[in-house]
Amino acid sequence: MLSHIPTYAAKYGLDNSICGDCPLKLSETGSCYVNLLTPNNIYHSYLTGNYPRFSEKELALLQHYHYPIRLGSYGDPTVVPLEVWEPIVLASGKYTGYTHNWRDTNSLWKQYLMASVHSIPEAKQAQSQGWRTFRIIAPDAPLSDNEILCRHTEDDRNNCSTCLLCDGKSSKPNIADKVHGLNWKVSNFLKYLESKSN
Ligand code: SF4
Repeated sequence: MLSHIPTYAAKYGLDNSICGDCPLKLSETGSCYVNLLTPNNIYHSYLTGNYPRFSEKELALLQHYHYPIRLGSYGDPTVVPLEVWEPIVLASGKYTGYTHNWRDTNSLWKQYLMASVHSIPEAKQAQSQGWRTFRIIAPDAPLSDNEILCRHTEDDRNNCSTCLLCDGKSSKPNIADKVHGLNWKVSNFLKYLESKSN
């Protein structure tokens, strides 16, 4: 069905069941960094029966090798039930993840995910509710006292799979990162930040 194709759903605002009410969606501010051609290809493979199902075999491999995982490469991880994610997360033991749905979701997610926020008041609100935060900032914006810059931005020899700072509730610091990506997406994000500050 056409409306199920990721690029079509995103363009026409039919992606709530994937992205929730994230303000960065293509149909809203159009600043999400995800290149939707990848989910399109995955969806096509799924339709043609060529997308492998995650099975006990993969779970056993994760338990053995503890490969680091990211909870979701497109969309909000909380749209998939926690009981689906949890065995995978626990088998790996090394994970990163983010949600824009932190205001409304089950608080058990705090142990695995960062709250995605875009302003200091939003960050404070999420932190007061027990979340660690990941705040996207303008390239020249200062950090808050309780934030550090993303380790990859600090030094591109670091990457998420070894850094693993963005792994939800712990005593680790909150993270901020400078907006990056395609110029038009960055520009849309900066306009969004400006509209929120007015
Ligand atoms: S701080 Fe940066 S490099 Fe480290 S896990 Fe978070 S996003 Fe990845």
